Amino acid sequence: MAENPALTPDDVTPMTCARDGLDHAVSTAAFAEGRRAGLGIYRAACGGMVEVTSMTCPPGPLCPLCVRALNPRVVAIPDQRGSRQGGLVGLIRRLHHGSAA
Ligand SMILES: [Zn+2]
Repeated sequence: MAENPALTPDDVTPMTCARDGLDHAVSTAAFAEGRRAGLGIYRAACGGMVEVTSMTCPPGPLCPLCVRALNPRVVAIPDQRGSRQGGLVGLIRRLHHGSAA
């Protein structure tokens, strides 16, 4: 199934996967879908399935495939969960700032 090609950093939340320890980008839609399934597993922007760790765990390394999938084209990146935004969202913000400036 094709992922939404219009996915932007605005649409995703970084989630640390318990299996690979990476921070993946999970879209709002994928999160809702995963919650309906009730398994605690969510489809990430890279296409992988994220088994979410505790939200209190420190962010892991960024999933390079998710970063690529989100290759940012959008300027506005709002703050998401403040305590965790230093990971994936922070990187995307830096990447975007570098490419747009
Ligand atoms: Zn990923």
